[in-house]
Amino acid sequence: MKYTTVVKNDSESKRVEEKIRNSIKIEEDNTNPDYVIAIGGDGTIIKASHRYPKAIIFGVHTGHLGFYANYNVDTVDELIDDINSEKFECHNIDVISCELLTKNKTILLGNALNEISILTPLKALTMEVYVDGDFFETFKGTGLCVSTPFGSTAYNKSLGGAVVDTSLSAIQVTEIAGINSNAFRTLSSPLVLNSERVLELRCKNYGDKVYITIDHESKEVGSYVSIRIHQSDYKIRMAYHRYEDQIKRIKRTFLK
Ligand code: NAP
Repeated sequence: MKYTTVVKNDSESKRVEEKIRNSIKIEEDNTNPDYVIAIGGDGTIIKASHRYPKAIIFGVHTGHLGFYANYNVDTVDELIDDINSEKFECHNIDVISCELLTKNKTILLGNALNEISILTPLKALTMEVYVDGDFFETFKGTGLCVSTPFGSTAYNKSLGGAVVDTSLSAIQVTEIAGINSNAFRTLSSPLVLNSERVLELRCKNYGDKVYITIDHESKEVGSYVSIRIHQSDYKIRMAYHRYEDQIKRIKRTFLK
């Protein structure tokens, strides 16, 4: 077994990294590691999962939040023991995929742990929304955010989306500044779908740039594109010694 680290650029995270490096008995491999020790916040763990999607991730929470990490600065010794003895549990995290549909082919744009959003920051974006191939609505506004249960506490929550229990398998569609008038009528509330459903978004803005965000990454695509979003076949594996229930994490983070 081989490991690598992905570390937030702050003194606490670097201190934790040094402690782990000094105590871990397996070899380092930055190209094809079996284990990735991600030290920092949720953002650090997301970046680690994008860089090493096949590895088992050991998340150490040194940041403010900690929805993904199962270890913290007080349980670093547990993590070291778990890796050295290879005795730990794993839970799977759902991932959603974003594909660009062209006339001749389907191009995978990327996979997200938190969310995929499609937006135009300057001009209102017009987008036809299809669920499982059936027309649902025509959206006009800044864009739409499609999130996973784990991502529901991130951008989705800031947009007024529901916080979803991570033991459920679902995808949520949340509007980003939707325009509602007699000309454009949308649902205007977050839509939580069974994760087996497939969303297709057909952008209808001639000449404007459309941005697709996949967690922390952003891609610019043409103005007249179709995008398909669905749950991916693969999942991210997160190691744990003791698993803290998501409801406790929500309470610790958002409630006094
Ligand atoms: P960032 O802009 O540096 O940080 C965004 C914040 O979101 C950080 O505080 C991060 O926590 C937190 N976060 C990430 N995933 C979360 C989750 N599942 N639940 C609760 N909070 C979460 O960007 P980043 O660190 O690269 O993270 C990318 C994420 O930022 C995107 O996926 C998106 O969800 C989020 N974002 C949110 C807004 C908004 O709410 N208005 C706008 C843009 C992007 P840590 O401090 O623990 O890393």
